[in-house]
Amino acid sequence: MSVFEHGEFDKHERVAFWNDEKTGLKAIIAVHNTYLGPALGGCRMWPYANSAEALTDVLRLSKGMTYKAAMAELKLGGGKSVILGDPRRIKTADMMESMGRFVESLGGSYYTAEDSGISVDDLHNMAKHSQYIAGINAKYQYTGEPSDGNPAPSTAYGVFVGLQAAVQHKFGTGVNGLTVAIQGLGHVGYRLAAHLHAAGAKLIVTDIYPENTQRAVEEFGATVVAPEQINSVKADVLAPCAMGATINLESIAGIQTSVIAGAANNQLSTEAMGEMLRQKDILYAPDYVINAGGVIDIYHQRFDSSAAAMKSHIERIGDNLSAIFTRADDENKATNEVANTMAEERFKY
Ligand code: NAD
Repeated sequence: MSVFEHGEFDKHERVAFWNDEKTGLKAIIAVHNTYLGPALGGCRMWPYANSAEALTDVLRLSKGMTYKAAMAELKLGGGKSVILGDPRRIKTADMMESMGRFVESLGGSYYTAEDSGISVDDLHNMAKHSQYIAGINAKYQYTGEPSDGNPAPSTAYGVFVGLQAAVQHKFGTGVNGLTVAIQGLGHVGYRLAAHLHAAGAKLIVTDIYPENTQRAVEEFGATVVAPEQINSVKADVLAPCAMGATINLESIAGIQTSVIAGAANNQLSTEAMGEMLRQKDILYAPDYVINAGGVIDIYHQRFDSSAAAMKSHIERIGDNLSAIFTRADDENKATNEVANTMAEERFKY
C-alpha cells in the first residue's frame, strides 16, 4: 500500500499506523498540516473493507480539517484518525485506551475528538493515557448555560448566523418572512429551525422520522414534505442538515432556491457542483465554513476560553462567509473554490 504516491496524499506531515495485537486495535492517524497550530480532528471508527480504504479516508478528512480550521480562524491545523472495524462488534474499553496511547505517542501534534462510531465515553477511556483528547469535559454552551458536551447547539447557531449572511448577500434582507427548506431535523437541523422560527422565517421541513417533523409542525408551524421532495420545493433557502452529496447531478436541476446554506458535511457530490450552482445563480455557503461552530466550540472548551469568546468567534462565521461571497462575485468564481483559496492563503506547508 503506497502512502506518498497515494491519490489523496497532499503534503501530509505525518501518517502513523498503530497495531495492538492485545486489544485488536488497528488505527491510522494522519496529520495534514500544523502551520497554524496542533492538528485537531475527530476519531472515526468504521468497518472499512480494507486498510487502503481507511487510508484514503484519513488522508482526505485530515486535509479537510486543515481548511476548516484555517477558515474558522482557529490556531489549529488539520488531522484525523480512523480505527478499522465495526464499533458495534469489536469496540472495547481496552481498545479505546490503546487508542489513547497512540494519540499520546504523537506528542501533542494531534488532538482527537468525537466522530462516527466514537462516543464521549470512548474519549474518556482514551484520556486515561493521553492529554491530547478534546471534546470532553465541556463546561459551557455559547449561551453561557452548562453544556452536556454536545457541540450541536454551537454548530446550529453558526449555521443560523451564516445563513443570515448568505440571505443578506443575496436578497439584502434578514430572514424574516423568507421560506427556508430544512432537510433533516436532527441535533443541528432542529435547533436551526428554532432559530429561524424565532427570527420570523417560514419553514418547510423533512426527515425520515415522522416524530421529528411532527415536533416542527407543533412548535414552529412548519410545512412537511416527503424526503425526496425537499431538494425541489419552492423556497428562498435550502438548508441541507442530514447527509452529504445531496447537491449532485440528479438534484441540481430541480433546486428552486436562490441560496443553499446548511450544516451537512460534503454537500457537493463533486467540487464541480459549485460552479454549476454559480451558473444557476444559486449562492452556496461552503459547508465547512458554515458548519464550523462545532469545532470552534471544541477549541474553546479545550483551550480554556469563555462562553462569550466562543459566541463571538462563532459569529465571525458570518463575516467569513460575506468575505467569500464578495470575492466570488468580484472574481466570477464559485464560492467553494474561493473558500479553498482563502484557506490556502492562511496556512503554509
Ligand atoms: P443527526 O444524525 O442528529 O441528524 C440528521 C437528521 O437527518 C436525522 O434526524 C435523520 O433522521 C435525518 N435524515 C437522515 N436521512 C435523511 C433523508 N434522506 N432525508 C431527510 N432527513 C434525513 O446529525 P446532526 O448532528 O444534526 O448533523 C447533521 C449534519 O451536519 C451531518 O451531515 C453532520 O455531519 C453535519 N455536522 C454536524 C455537526 C454537529 O455539531 N453535530 C457539526 C458539523 C457538521
